[in-house]
Amino acid sequence: MAAFAGVRKVRRLPNDGVRNGWYETLPPPAQARRVAGTVTVDWAVIGAGACGLAFARRLGELRPSDSVAVVEAMRVGYGTSGRNAGFMLSHHSHGGIRDIQVGRRNDRLFSTGLAYLRETVLHHQIRCDWSDWGQIYVAAAAEGEAHLRAVAEGFSALDVPFRQIDRNALEEITGTRFYGRGVRLQGSALVQPAAMMRGLGRTLPANVDLYEDSPVLELRAEDGFRLICPDGAVVGRRLVLANHVFAEEMGFMGRRIVPIATFASLTRPLTDDERQHVGGEGQFGLLPASPNGSTVRLTLDGRILMRNTLWYARKKRFAGALIASAENHHRESLRERWPALAGVEFVATWGGIMGFTRNEGGVFGEIGDGLYAVLTTDAAPMTRGTAAGKLLAEHICGIDSEELRILLSVPRAAMLPPDPILRFLAERRIRKFETTDAAER
Ligand SMILES: Cc1cc2nc3c(=O)[nH]c(=O)nc-3n(C[C@H](O)[C@H](O)[C@H](O)COP(=O)(O)OP(=O)(O)OC[C@H]3O[C@@H](n4cnc5c(N)ncnc54)[C@H](O)[C@@H]3O)c2cc1C
Repeated sequence: MAAFAGVRKVRRLPNDGVRNGWYETLPPPAQARRVAGTVTVDWAVIGAGACGLAFARRLGELRPSDSVAVVEAMRVGYGTSGRNAGFMLSHHSHGGIRDIQVGRRNDRLFSTGLAYLRETVLHHQIRCDWSDWGQIYVAAAAEGEAHLRAVAEGFSALDVPFRQIDRNALEEITGTRFYGRGVRLQGSALVQPAAMMRGLGRTLPANVDLYEDSPVLELRAEDGFRLICPDGAVVGRRLVLANHVFAEEMGFMGRRIVPIATFASLTRPLTDDERQHVGGEGQFGLLPASPNGSTVRLTLDGRILMRNTLWYARKKRFAGALIASAENHHRESLRERWPALAGVEFVATWGGIMGFTRNEGGVFGEIGDGLYAVLTTDAAPMTRGTAAGKLLAEHICGIDSEELRILLSVPRAAMLPPDPILRFLAERRIRKFETTDAAER
């Protein structure tokens, strides 16, 4: 099966200048190594997110004599894998578990990815505020409570231990009486995602080179695969697409993944006085039971992260007005939970794109001669994507495992209707949640 013929121009690039508050709190990075001249390797990987780095690390470990080049349009840690809410989940039951087999399969993949991340962060002593704090799913009003019941039923069906907690217990942990009920479980980790991704990029095996600020502008089926960047080219005998929703901008995986953006704001560190308002555990990680709810964290360095607001993101660009509207939502959500903190400044507000499929499907494996794809979608994409990247390398190297067989059993992401139908359906769904679950945001 020929990978593709001729030349593929890349229609849109991810380096759109949108801010990333986590990244902005880190010291400036060392100068980027960019693609210059012609670099020839056994394996070219496009994208240094969770999927691309996990693949490159594992392949580098398993095949120390193969050369690997990871080519990233921006700086590592700046993209979606470094701008999320920092939940590295081992279990997840968003909206409940509709199919127990799918739930078990997902859980296994999440745990595989989490274990690989934990092992790497520990081994290399990556400073990313890793904390095995777990997560609490929360509900504020009746609509949220219905979702929360489904979350609890899902975990019961999966035999995942959890604890129900009430408003008073939630107040002790978070300092707010905004939430009526919660479901608490252990096992997952909270991290500073930009720091983690930067650390993962810095500690790749010796046979893996990371090129940053090197957007791939064009792909040619020449000498294997030729990736054209602004100041040079990478020629790879084999190519791995790990560029998430931007794969379709190169003409791959069109109409398989629904691009949905969500937005986050991060505050400056709270003062000692302000910290009196945010509970007694020194940190927390709250996931909304409702799709319209807010993900909220108190970080180890005393900042609040607020994530909410969904937007159909086919354009993959965030206009200033969209960011301003998300910032208003975050400000309002902060005020409703902690009126005394309503004025605390945000260091930044930003957006990022997640991928969803219609059938909890996947994009994994060889899609043409020498051409592979590994994209993460749907629930817990950071740990799922890390597992998928690792397992793709093991699959290529002939290493069998139960996890690999599970991943291979995931159906291919189902075909989606074209725009404007898909846009209409996605926007209608988002509006429905915004209306019925308004109190949860
Ligand atoms: C605000 C927010 C909060 C979230 N919270 C969580 C959470 O708490 N837990 C969780 O599990 N998930 C969360 N997610 C989702 C999760 O971050 C993503 O699904 C995940 O990072 C996707 O990983 P990836 O490796 O597939 O893609 P990415 O991280 O997007 O990596 C792909 C890389 O490819 C690069 N690329 C694209 N095109 C090109 C090109 N032409 N040339 C070179 N490079 C290119 C991009 O720059 C990018 O860095 C959140 C997302 C957002 C936006």
